[in-house]
Amino acid sequence: MKRFLIQTFGCQMNVHDSRRIEEVLAADGYAPTDQPELADLILFNTCSVREKAEHKLRSAVGTFRPLKRQRPDTVLAVAGCMAQEHGEALLEELDLVDVLIGPDNIPELPALVRSVQGGAPPLARTVFDLDDPSFLHATPRTGQREVCSFVTVMKGCDERCSFCIVPHTRGAERYRPADDIVAEVAALVAGGVREITLLGQTVNSWHEPGQQSHDDESQFPALLRRIATEVPGLLRLRYTSPHPRHVTPSLVAAHRELEVLPAHVHLPVQSGSDRLLKRMIRRYRRADYVERARALQGARPGFTLSTDIIVGFPGETEQDFLQTLTLVEEVGFVSAFCFKYSPRPYTPALKLGDDVSEEVKSERLSRLFEQVERQQQAHLDALVGTRTRVLFEGPSKQSPVAELPAAATARFSGRSDRHDIVHVDVPAGFDLTGHVLEARVTHANRHSLVGELTAAPPEEARAPAVEELAGRTRLPVLGS
Ligand code: SF4
Repeated sequence: MKRFLIQTFGCQMNVHDSRRIEEVLAADGYAPTDQPELADLILFNTCSVREKAEHKLRSAVGTFRPLKRQRPDTVLAVAGCMAQEHGEALLEELDLVDVLIGPDNIPELPALVRSVQGGAPPLARTVFDLDDPSFLHATPRTGQREVCSFVTVMKGCDERCSFCIVPHTRGAERYRPADDIVAEVAALVAGGVREITLLGQTVNSWHEPGQQSHDDESQFPALLRRIATEVPGLLRLRYTSPHPRHVTPSLVAAHRELEVLPAHVHLPVQSGSDRLLKRMIRRYRRADYVERARALQGARPGFTLSTDIIVGFPGETEQDFLQTLTLVEEVGFVSAFCFKYSPRPYTPALKLGDDVSEEVKSERLSRLFEQVERQQQAHLDALVGTRTRVLFEGPSKQSPVAELPAAATARFSGRSDRHDIVHVDVPAGFDLTGHVLEARVTHANRHSLVGELTAAPPEEARAPAVEELAGRTRLPVLGS
């Protein structure tokens, strides 16, 4: 049997793409392996949003040089944004790589691998499907319990923020028909999935293909309502990443009215300075962002927001940075992904230079982290003593399923409706994966909560015998 190994770099979109690549390869007779020396195909699914991810890819490919020398028939492939960005030039730069494939060309991967194995020279296929967009379907995994899954609703981006390479690597916005989206969500839920995250670069700009409106009102809230109505078995419906421009009154109303939507949204802001927001071409002002954030926070008690922030964007002064710090406090973010600006090819910001020194970027980043951590800790501390509903995603890292029967207790982790990570300990012999249970928060860690179940674990949560667990993939629990 042919075997493949995939290494994924970057965002949730890439994790999702890697899963679709696995499905395409499985349909062609491949099986996964985690041993490179057994793999016929080793694929790196890449991200090029930040320079650091590109460095990681280059060094990861280099580690396979000895293996490629020993087993020259092993095909090395690079997929994702970096393949799309560099195209054939990457084949010249990375002499070990045999196949380059863009995000829209994944179905062609097995054929390209066969061509190379048949003696063809290294091949690159990086063509956008602009005229006839296709979306790879997520399918329920047989024999494995999957609690959370992603469903793509749109791809590409028309925003052209001045720092961002995504419009170049993922192309113009293309939308998936609602019928397809709803059918995929329903199939996943019928297969046991409890939580779906709708994915798209500007996910809340979604509308039916060919029905783009000229105001800011997307059809995304209507899509959320349709999923909530037509897939009643779905427990939670998240989405990422929304653009603040498309946080409209009808989206806020959906959060107010649809129980399936959690009390949390990740809403990238990037800066608190109007001057920088303009240079970043974000198309909103600080006041607009705050107004929309307040509207979401008012939709449901305890609603929380997290965000993305860039420090050291060209021209950022201490004054601009202080405005970012005050915005973080004003909105009350409970967590944030914070990054130093790095110039990316094909982006409008290139012409602005990179005039904030590395030292200043690092200093601002650590001040920002301190502020965010303070707020996160205050948020988590305030939850001690409260009760919260938790969807358990799997055993925590300290307590693998295989060890359950031997241990006195087992620790499981999940997410609250506000997206906080919650750990609870239960007697050995129970498996909470996929269960939704109430927990009382007893302790706040640095980035997570510890709690206890408010009732005994249900009988249906008794773990199957160890032999039945063979082959089950542990579900990832982000963070700790
Ligand atoms: S909205 Fe801006 S930051 Fe987000 S993917 Fe599009 S261009 Fe990039």
